[in-house]
Amino acid sequence: MTNLKTEKLTISKISAGLKQKKFSSYELTSAYLKKIKKDDCNAFISVNDKALEQAKFADKLLAAKKGGELCGVPLAVKDIILVEGLRATGASNILADYIASYTATAVDHLQKAGMVVLGKTNCDEFAMGSSNENSAFGPVLNPYDKKRVPGGSSGGSAAALAASLAPTALGTDTGGSIRQPASFCGVCGLKPSYGRVSRYGSMAMASSLDQIGPMANSVRDLALLLQYMAGFDPLDATSAQTKVPDYLSGLGKNTKKLRLGLPKEYFAAGLDKEVEQAVKGLVASLEKEGMTVKEVSLPYTDYALATYYLLMPAEVSSNLARYDGVLYGLSADKKSGLDDWYKEIRSRGFGAEVKRRIMLGTYILSAGYYDAYYKQAQKVRTLIKEDFAKVFSEVDVLLTPATPTTAFKLGEKSQDPLTMYLSDIFTVAANIGGVCGLSLPIGQDKKGLPIGLQLLGDAFQEEKILNLGNYIEQLIA
Ligand code: GLN
Repeated sequence: MTNLKTEKLTISKISAGLKQKKFSSYELTSAYLKKIKKDDCNAFISVNDKALEQAKFADKLLAAKKGGELCGVPLAVKDIILVEGLRATGASNILADYIASYTATAVDHLQKAGMVVLGKTNCDEFAMGSSNENSAFGPVLNPYDKKRVPGGSSGGSAAALAASLAPTALGTDTGGSIRQPASFCGVCGLKPSYGRVSRYGSMAMASSLDQIGPMANSVRDLALLLQYMAGFDPLDATSAQTKVPDYLSGLGKNTKKLRLGLPKEYFAAGLDKEVEQAVKGLVASLEKEGMTVKEVSLPYTDYALATYYLLMPAEVSSNLARYDGVLYGLSADKKSGLDDWYKEIRSRGFGAEVKRRIMLGTYILSAGYYDAYYKQAQKVRTLIKEDFAKVFSEVDVLLTPATPTTAFKLGEKSQDPLTMYLSDIFTVAANIGGVCGLSLPIGQDKKGLPIGLQLLGDAFQEEKILNLGNYIEQLIA
């Protein structure tokens, strides 16, 4: 089956096709690999040369009726997440030749379910960015308009889905890196609650904010992938012991009983008119369906971005200290002493944005400034958490735009870090509060660029946002 169509395939379609023997995982994987070869969006950094072998193995499992719904389904993995034997660069020169010596727990669960890793997707260096322009392997282009960014930092994963180079993908989200690119590329993405999915094997950016999450062509697919990824992992002390519910069977149950909230702070200045209209139009359709939506307030929202850009760099500066060229990664021949060695490796190995954040973080944590910046930001973090706790006692799901605008042009914000940071304004609070969020496409603007809706739920309430997301998807289909 050489002309196998890969356009926007969902897991259920693939699984049905595999079970009915319309195609094999081998044929499907070959079709994706063929498309990846012709990729003109720069979505992948490397391809898994064992993908076809893994697909053959999945076919054997399926033939023996041993495979579940994920068996034989191809997966693209953000290059910040480790898969044993595959290159893991984090889109940085400092790890340009690094081969992972173990597999991230989340990927391991999916591989054990029979998923086939197609390759590693491009991203902003160590996940720092909102446009994918910070990759040492070149920017990713938005498949909807190649003059525009796909969002970041999981831009390669989002573009791979939008260009049908993969039917499922993994991203990481520290301040919006799954939800914002999903929104820019018209695909679905979920940031799980902090602790829901093990972070083991994901290169740490800001450990108190990072989460690995699924990206796909439907909300149901997100639920299915999360089902396998979620759960306690003894290898990640911050992963939660909280029971993993049956996300799939929760879909479609009592959806109309969900109490919905519209946080007024998310509809303020800076929000593009077309995005606002799309979200408000959707809210009106939900009300027409008999759902109640009330206006709510998260008063500390205005401080979220500043808090994020203090806490995140502080953690970045400490986490990235490990890249010193001694044990792995970029190395030098200089024998002139340790300080010069570090200087040489880290100057050559890191890009400008990473350096900026390391320096900012070091400053924030330094004696004399720690109290004024880091400690103060931690206090505001508590207030933001309390905002969420209060609002989630009144409503089950918050509806907001995922991003203030649709995809912007390449180069449009790269000279001005502050404007770039502003594109995360609607996503960072969820990471600060540790709550869950998903983004799903609800339409396009006049330029034909996708508009994303963000659904936020309380910590460990993924079933609620998945349930509503799935309902909305069917409502607007
Ligand atoms: N765009 C945000 C940043 O630059 C978020 C990154 C992320 O979630 N990894 O920090």
